[in-house]
Amino acid sequence: MRILRAESFPTRIDAIKALLVFYANLLRAQKEIYISLRSRRDWLPSGYLEEDVPVIRALAPAFLCAVERSGSPILIEEAQNLMRASEEEIDQMLLEQWRRPSDLRFFAKALLQPYARWLAESGAQVMGRDLESKESSCPFCGGKPQLSVLHTREDSSESGGRDLMCSTCLTVWSYRRILCASCGEERPALLGIYHSPDYDHIRIETCDTCRHYLKGIDLTRFGLAVPIVDEVASVPLDLWASDHGYTKIELNLVGF
Ligand SMILES: [Zn+2]
Ligand SMILES: [Zn+2]
Repeated sequence: MRILRAESFPTRIDAIKALLVFYANLLRAQKEIYISLRSRRDWLPSGYLEEDVPVIRALAPAFLCAVERSGSPILIEEAQNLMRASEEEIDQMLLEQWRRPSDLRFFAKALLQPYARWLAESGAQVMGRDLESKESSCPFCGGKPQLSVLHTREDSSESGGRDLMCSTCLTVWSYRRILCASCGEERPALLGIYHSPDYDHIRIETCDTCRHYLKGIDLTRFGLAVPIVDEVASVPLDLWASDHGYTKIELNLVGF
Protein backbone atom coordinates (compact mmCIF):
# COMPACT_ATOMS: atom_id res chain seq x y z
CA MET A 1 0.00 0.00 0.00
CA ARG A 2 2.81 2.41 0.88
CA ILE A 3 4.78 1.57 -2.24
CA LEU A 4 1.70 1.95 -4.41
CA ARG A 5 0.87 5.29 -2.83
CA ALA A 6 4.44 6.56 -3.36
CA GLU A 7 4.24 5.53 -7.00
CA SER A 8 0.86 7.09 -7.62
CA PHE A 9 0.84 10.21 -5.46
CA PRO A 10 -0.53 12.97 -7.67
CA THR A 11 1.98 15.76 -8.22
CA ARG A 12 3.04 17.94 -11.11
CA ILE A 13 6.36 18.88 -9.50
CA ASP A 14 9.23 16.92 -11.05
CA ALA A 15 11.44 17.11 -7.96
CA ILE A 16 8.69 15.56 -5.84
CA LYS A 17 8.08 12.87 -8.45
CA ALA A 18 11.79 11.97 -8.34
CA LEU A 19 11.78 11.97 -4.55
CA LEU A 20 8.81 9.60 -4.51
CA VAL A 21 10.43 7.23 -7.00
CA PHE A 22 13.41 7.06 -4.66
CA TYR A 23 11.17 6.65 -1.62
CA ALA A 24 9.24 3.83 -3.31
CA ASN A 25 12.56 2.05 -3.86
CA LEU A 26 13.48 2.56 -0.22
CA LEU A 27 10.13 1.19 0.91
CA ARG A 28 10.61 -1.84 -1.33
CA ALA A 29 14.10 -2.49 0.12
CA GLN A 30 12.81 -2.03 3.67
CA LYS A 31 9.95 -4.41 2.96
CA GLU A 32 12.50 -7.04 1.92
CA ILE A 33 14.26 -6.62 5.25
CA TYR A 34 10.99 -6.83 7.13
CA ILE A 35 9.90 -9.99 5.30
CA SER A 36 13.30 -11.61 5.87
CA LEU A 37 13.12 -10.87 9.59
CA ARG A 38 9.55 -12.09 9.87
CA SER A 39 10.13 -15.30 7.98
CA ARG A 40 13.45 -16.19 9.55
CA ARG A 41 13.13 -19.72 10.87
CA ASP A 42 13.39 -20.44 14.56
CA TRP A 43 14.16 -16.84 15.34
CA LEU A 44 12.41 -14.04 17.12
CA PRO A 45 14.13 -10.76 17.95
CA SER A 46 15.32 -10.60 21.54
CA GLY A 47 14.86 -6.86 21.87
CA TYR A 48 18.55 -6.50 22.77
CA LEU A 49 20.09 -5.04 19.66
CA GLU A 50 23.54 -6.26 20.72
CA GLU A 51 22.19 -9.77 20.34
CA ASP A 52 20.07 -9.20 17.23
CA VAL A 53 22.50 -7.06 15.26
CA PRO A 54 24.15 -9.86 13.20
CA VAL A 55 20.76 -10.64 11.67
CA ILE A 56 20.18 -7.03 10.60
CA ARG A 57 23.77 -6.65 9.40
CA ALA A 58 23.35 -9.68 7.14
CA LEU A 59 20.43 -7.93 5.42
CA ALA A 60 22.27 -4.64 4.96
CA PRO A 61 24.08 -5.41 1.64
CA ALA A 62 20.85 -5.78 -0.36
CA PHE A 63 19.61 -2.50 1.08
CA LEU A 64 22.89 -0.75 0.24
CA CYS A 65 22.65 -2.02 -3.34
CA ALA A 66 19.11 -0.65 -3.64
CA VAL A 67 20.31 2.79 -2.54
CA GLU A 68 23.29 2.56 -4.85
CA ARG A 69 20.87 2.04 -7.74
CA SER A 70 18.57 4.95 -7.00
CA GLY A 71 20.02 7.34 -4.41
CA SER A 72 21.51 10.80 -4.67
CA PRO A 73 25.28 11.04 -5.37
CA ILE A 74 25.97 11.60 -1.66
CA LEU A 75 23.94 8.55 -0.61
CA ILE A 76 25.51 6.42 -3.34
CA GLU A 77 28.96 7.32 -2.07
CA GLU A 78 27.95 6.56 1.50
CA ALA A 79 26.40 3.24 0.44
CA GLN A 80 29.65 2.29 -1.29
CA ASN A 81 31.67 3.20 1.80
CA LEU A 82 29.40 1.03 3.94
CA MET A 83 29.81 -1.86 1.49
CA ARG A 84 33.52 -1.75 2.29
CA ALA A 85 33.01 -1.28 6.05
CA SER A 86 33.83 -4.04 8.51
CA GLU A 87 31.17 -5.96 10.40
CA GLU A 88 32.19 -4.12 13.57
CA GLU A 89 31.72 -0.75 11.89
CA ILE A 90 28.22 -1.64 10.68
CA ASP A 91 27.29 -2.97 14.13
CA GLN A 92 28.64 0.18 15.73
CA MET A 93 26.60 2.37 13.42
CA LEU A 94 23.40 0.45 14.22
CA LEU A 95 24.03 0.35 17.96
CA GLU A 96 24.85 4.05 18.09
CA GLN A 97 21.59 4.86 16.29
CA TRP A 98 19.63 2.57 18.59
CA ARG A 99 21.04 4.10 21.76
CA ARG A 100 21.16 7.72 20.65
CA PRO A 101 18.86 8.10 17.64
CA SER A 102 19.50 10.82 15.08
CA ASP A 103 17.36 11.65 12.07
CA LEU A 104 20.56 12.50 10.17
CA ARG A 105 21.86 8.90 10.05
CA PHE A 106 19.99 7.77 6.98
CA PHE A 107 21.30 4.20 6.64
CA ALA A 108 21.10 3.28 10.30
CA LYS A 109 17.58 4.67 10.61
CA ALA A 110 16.41 2.96 7.43
CA LEU A 111 17.85 -0.42 8.47
CA LEU A 112 16.45 -0.26 11.97
CA GLN A 113 12.89 0.73 11.05
CA PRO A 114 11.83 -2.74 9.79
CA TYR A 115 13.57 -4.38 12.76
CA ALA A 116 11.82 -2.09 15.24
CA ARG A 117 8.50 -2.68 13.47
CA TRP A 118 8.91 -6.43 13.78
CA LEU A 119 9.95 -6.05 17.43
CA ALA A 120 6.71 -4.20 18.12
CA GLU A 121 4.60 -6.70 16.21
CA SER A 122 6.25 -9.82 17.61
CA GLY A 123 5.61 -8.79 21.19
CA ALA A 124 9.26 -8.36 22.14
CA GLN A 125 10.40 -5.70 24.56
CA VAL A 126 12.88 -3.00 23.70
CA MET A 127 15.93 -3.35 25.91
CA GLY A 128 19.03 -1.23 26.37
CA ARG A 129 17.56 1.87 24.83
CA ASP A 130 17.73 4.43 27.57
CA LEU A 131 15.69 7.22 26.02
CA GLU A 132 13.95 10.01 27.88
CA SER A 133 10.39 8.93 28.55
CA LYS A 134 7.90 11.64 27.60
CA GLU A 135 4.22 11.57 26.79
CA SER A 136 5.20 12.52 23.26
CA SER A 137 7.64 9.65 22.82
CA CYS A 138 6.67 6.24 21.49
CA PRO A 139 5.24 4.05 24.27
CA PHE A 140 6.91 1.01 22.69
CA CYS A 141 10.44 2.09 21.75
CA GLY A 142 10.81 5.65 23.03
CA GLY A 143 11.25 7.10 19.54
CA LYS A 144 10.18 10.58 18.50
CA PRO A 145 6.96 11.11 16.56
CA GLN A 146 7.30 11.32 12.79
CA LEU A 147 3.83 12.68 12.13
CA SER A 148 0.33 12.95 13.49
CA VAL A 149 -2.81 11.37 12.09
CA LEU A 150 -6.29 12.83 12.49
CA HIS A 151 -9.11 10.40 12.16
CA THR A 152 -12.05 12.03 13.91
CA ARG A 153 -13.66 15.35 13.19
CA GLU A 154 -12.83 17.92 15.82
CA ASP A 155 -16.41 18.57 16.87
CA SER A 156 -17.20 14.90 17.46
CA SER A 157 -14.39 14.30 19.88
CA GLU A 158 -13.37 16.24 22.94
CA SER A 159 -9.68 15.47 22.97
CA GLY A 160 -9.19 12.33 20.93
CA GLY A 161 -9.06 11.71 17.25
CA ARG A 162 -5.35 12.40 16.94
CA ASP A 163 -2.56 9.84 16.95
CA LEU A 164 1.19 10.17 16.69
CA MET A 165 3.27 7.73 14.63
CA CYS A 166 6.72 6.68 15.79
CA SER A 167 9.63 7.49 13.51
CA THR A 168 11.48 4.31 14.54
CA CYS A 169 8.96 1.47 14.91
CA LEU A 170 5.91 3.09 13.26
CA THR A 171 3.75 2.34 16.30
CA VAL A 172 0.75 4.65 16.54
CA TRP A 173 -0.47 6.00 19.87
CA SER A 174 -3.21 8.40 20.76
CA TYR A 175 -2.25 11.91 21.74
CA ARG A 176 -4.30 14.93 22.69
CA ARG A 177 -5.22 17.24 19.86
CA ILE A 178 -4.18 20.48 21.55
CA LEU A 179 -0.75 19.51 22.84
CA CYS A 180 2.72 20.06 21.36
CA ALA A 181 4.23 16.74 20.30
CA SER A 182 7.66 17.95 21.36
CA CYS A 183 7.55 20.02 24.56
CA GLY A 184 4.03 19.39 25.83
CA GLU A 185 2.82 23.01 25.47
CA GLU A 186 -0.97 23.01 25.75
CA ARG A 187 -1.98 26.68 25.57
CA PRO A 188 -3.96 26.95 22.31
CA ALA A 189 -2.65 30.46 21.59
CA LEU A 190 0.88 29.05 21.21
CA LEU A 191 -0.07 26.11 18.98
CA GLY A 192 -0.61 26.82 15.30
CA ILE A 193 -2.17 24.91 12.42
CA TYR A 194 -1.34 25.87 8.84
CA HIS A 195 -2.80 24.64 5.60
CA SER A 196 -1.86 25.05 1.99
CA PRO A 197 -4.48 24.72 -0.75
CA ASP A 198 -2.06 22.37 -2.54
CA TYR A 199 -2.39 19.76 0.21
CA ASP A 200 -5.91 19.87 1.51
CA HIS A 201 -5.50 16.92 3.89
CA ILE A 202 -2.08 17.75 5.29
CA ARG A 203 -1.38 20.40 7.86
CA ILE A 204 1.59 21.85 9.64
CA GLU A 205 1.26 21.75 13.43
CA THR A 206 3.56 24.25 15.10
CA CYS A 207 4.49 25.20 18.65
CA ASP A 208 5.68 28.72 19.43
CA THR A 209 7.14 27.69 22.75
CA CYS A 210 9.74 25.19 21.50
CA ARG A 211 9.54 26.29 17.81
CA HIS A 212 9.10 22.69 16.65
CA TYR A 213 6.58 21.34 14.17
CA LEU A 214 5.34 18.14 12.64
CA LYS A 215 2.86 17.39 9.89
CA GLY A 216 -0.63 16.10 10.51
CA ILE A 217 -2.32 13.87 7.96
CA ASP A 218 -6.06 14.42 8.15
CA LEU A 219 -7.85 11.23 7.20
CA THR A 220 -11.24 12.89 7.68
CA ARG A 221 -10.42 15.05 4.66
CA PHE A 222 -8.89 12.26 2.58
CA GLY A 223 -9.37 8.73 3.81
CA LEU A 224 -7.16 7.13 1.17
CA ALA A 225 -4.03 8.92 2.35
CA VAL A 226 -1.13 6.76 3.52
CA PRO A 227 0.28 8.96 6.28
CA ILE A 228 3.96 8.05 6.08
CA VAL A 229 4.02 8.50 2.30
CA ASP A 230 1.88 11.63 2.17
CA GLU A 231 4.16 13.12 4.79
CA VAL A 232 7.16 12.60 2.51
CA ALA A 233 5.28 13.82 -0.57
CA SER A 234 4.42 17.20 0.93
CA VAL A 235 7.95 18.63 1.02
CA PRO A 236 6.85 22.19 0.17
CA LEU A 237 5.16 22.36 3.57
CA ASP A 238 8.47 21.54 5.24
CA LEU A 239 10.17 24.30 3.29
CA TRP A 240 7.44 26.71 4.41
CA ALA A 241 7.86 25.67 8.07
CA SER A 242 11.60 26.00 7.92
CA ASP A 243 11.31 29.44 6.27
CA HIS A 244 9.13 30.47 9.19
CA GLY A 245 11.70 29.40 11.76
CA TYR A 246 10.27 26.05 12.83
CA THR A 247 12.40 22.91 13.27
CA LYS A 248 10.93 19.54 12.52
CA ILE A 249 10.64 17.20 15.51
CA GLU A 250 12.03 14.37 13.36
CA LEU A 251 13.21 14.59 9.75
CA ASN A 252 11.65 11.89 7.59
CA LEU A 253 13.70 9.19 5.95
CA VAL A 254 14.41 11.21 2.82
CA GLY A 255 15.76 14.08 4.91
CA PHE A 256 12.92 16.65 4.98
ZN1 LIG B 1 8.52 3.39 18.40
ZN1 LIG C 1 6.52 22.70 21.83
